[in-house]
Amino acid sequence: MWYKKLHWQIVIGLILGLVYGLISSVAGLNDFTIEYIKPFGTIFITLLKLIAVPLVLASLVAGVTSLNDTTKLSRMGGKTVLIYLCTTLFAVSIGLLVVNVAQPGKTLPEETRISLQETYSDSIEDREQSAKAVKERGNLDILVNIVPDNFFASASNNSNMLQVVFVAILLGIGIIHLGGEKGKLLVNVFDAFNDVIILIVDLIMKTAPYGVFALMAGLIVDLAGDDLGKAIELLSALGLYSITLIVALLLHIFIVYASMFKYFSKGKMSLFQFFKAIQPAMLLGFSTSSSSATLPVTLERVEKNLGVDEEVASFVLPVGATINMDGTSAYQAVAAVFIAQALGLDLSFTQQLMIVLTATAASVGAAGVPGAGIVMLVVVLESINVPTAGIALILGVDRILDMCRTVVNITGDAAVSYAVAASEGKLHEPNFED
Ligand code: ASP
Repeated sequence: MWYKKLHWQIVIGLILGLVYGLISSVAGLNDFTIEYIKPFGTIFITLLKLIAVPLVLASLVAGVTSLNDTTKLSRMGGKTVLIYLCTTLFAVSIGLLVVNVAQPGKTLPEETRISLQETYSDSIEDREQSAKAVKERGNLDILVNIVPDNFFASASNNSNMLQVVFVAILLGIGIIHLGGEKGKLLVNVFDAFNDVIILIVDLIMKTAPYGVFALMAGLIVDLAGDDLGKAIELLSALGLYSITLIVALLLHIFIVYASMFKYFSKGKMSLFQFFKAIQPAMLLGFSTSSSSATLPVTLERVEKNLGVDEEVASFVLPVGATINMDGTSAYQAVAAVFIAQALGLDLSFTQQLMIVLTATAASVGAAGVPGAGIVMLVVVLESINVPTAGIALILGVDRILDMCRTVVNITGDAAVSYAVAASEGKLHEPNFED
């Protein structure tokens, strides 16, 4: 039966959650929803986050030790970063192209612009502060920060995933060099540990339809708390902006990822099968707005249902969840130009080129958590001398667009891991069931 399949159950949970959220706001059940339903959504996300660090550690150590040869690892690393960079550059360019053609900022009525700026001016300061902290980092800090001085400190914070990746690779390399009986023992331990964690992810995923229901209900009630009618009004005032971004995101998926996937799959798998395989991860990305929280599910689907070998997936995906955010970078391009247009500022070619550079860097620097993209947008706006207060214009719809760009971030990670696996000859028979 179709509805027994997990991805359909998640879709049903998502739709029911939205409907319930609306009913709850109309029927005055918001307190009940916040008190008794929303917490289940929080528990669900927390469970996913809880499993992320052990999963990355176990699967990456198991993956690296199965390589036997560390030159392969560095080749794979170089390839991964290069493809990630290229897809991000494409995403920003598509974003710029679409926003320059559609010019959504030019149609924003003067009074809407003024009232938006008045409403949201207070909440911008926090984001400016966070962006300032990011900007004060040195150019090579991203490299310096990959090396932790204490593994337990890195493992205690999910935003330090690159550090966990680093330690896992180091440990894997150590185990390969150790070799012999002791080496074998450690390989078996990590393999077994990995299997247990995959089982736990499966268990958590069984609750996904309920978790997604609670997340969606909570989201609608939160929005309604600030006045759902207003959010819908805003969405239509900013409709052209939102549509422009969504068109750019769709173009990126159906041009860049689709061609990359077609090229590497060589007809072994259709695009439809690709989307079907990662659909639960995409749906979770949509409901959680977080590529980091979705990582355990992305890993599972990519390995099982796309057939990407563990040693590739366990490296490419955690790195991608941290540095590859094509949806975010396209969003930054669209948002920056939209704000400039709305404020009546014309951007020169050099300024647009600057957007390409800063949006790429900013998306690398953005964490895979809700709202990270808008913080980094401050950096992009500053680089082209557009007043950061302009963020007020788009803040009202950002939560919803965050959900959409996160889906693209996750799809990108999955597509790149498939490409790297195909080019390394590391694809297995995919599981088309479920
Ligand atoms: N929420 C996005 C993610 O986790 C980041 C962002 O664009 O805000 O992938």
